[in-house]
Amino acid sequence: MELIFRDDAYRKSCEATVTAVDEAGIRLDRTVFYPTGGGQPGDTGVLRLEDGGVLPIVEARKGADPEDVVHVPEEGATLPDPGAKVTAEIDWERRHRMMRIHSCMHVLCSIIVGDVTGGQVGDGKGRLDFNLPDTQLDKEAITAELNRIVSEDRPLTSRWITEVELAATPELVRTMSVKPPRGAGRVRLMEIEGVDLQPCGGTHVRRTGEIGPVRVAKIENKGRQNRRINIVFAD
Ligand SMILES: [Zn+2]
Repeated sequence: MELIFRDDAYRKSCEATVTAVDEAGIRLDRTVFYPTGGGQPGDTGVLRLEDGGVLPIVEARKGADPEDVVHVPEEGATLPDPGAKVTAEIDWERRHRMMRIHSCMHVLCSIIVGDVTGGQVGDGKGRLDFNLPDTQLDKEAITAELNRIVSEDRPLTSRWITEVELAATPELVRTMSVKPPRGAGRVRLMEIEGVDLQPCGGTHVRRTGEIGPVRVAKIENKGRQNRRINIVFAD
């Protein structure tokens, strides 16, 4: 399966052929749908059929292997047959908000010193948990630092390295709970120029300016050493 979102997160739709249909959902030969994983919800959208029919997709999920995406149809929908030609189209407005928040999580990660123990991207909000014993975190200071880096409009780029190279540079992995996708012999690195560099398989904006104004909504104590920082869009 060709994972178009990985090379171009801005593709909203693609032509595809149905390769398999089972109770889990629909598989295509290529897709723009990002599957749930790495703390980012999977895309929603539609498959447009050749006869003009529109099949709502309520979630994209990972299948058996990392290159496999299952498109979960709306319950009760009439399913296409293998071989059918479709246009796969994501809910772009929703996805773009995910990309902005997800990218903002990388910026947050660069500001806070401490291992990341968890995280979740949502629609218009996101959070990261840090292993930080006895630290006073200043909401206003973190908000100001986030917006400074956002306004610097720094470029985000991705590149691939081998698993061997990653193993030789373990300091690249900030996230203890979400291990980078492995198994294909290579790992995708995301870089925010001068700010952050870490393995990530998610979808990101091209420049930090596209994230837009954000603020720290609240900081929670989740256990003795765990601080949860919640981010929302400020506009
Ligand atoms: Zn990422």
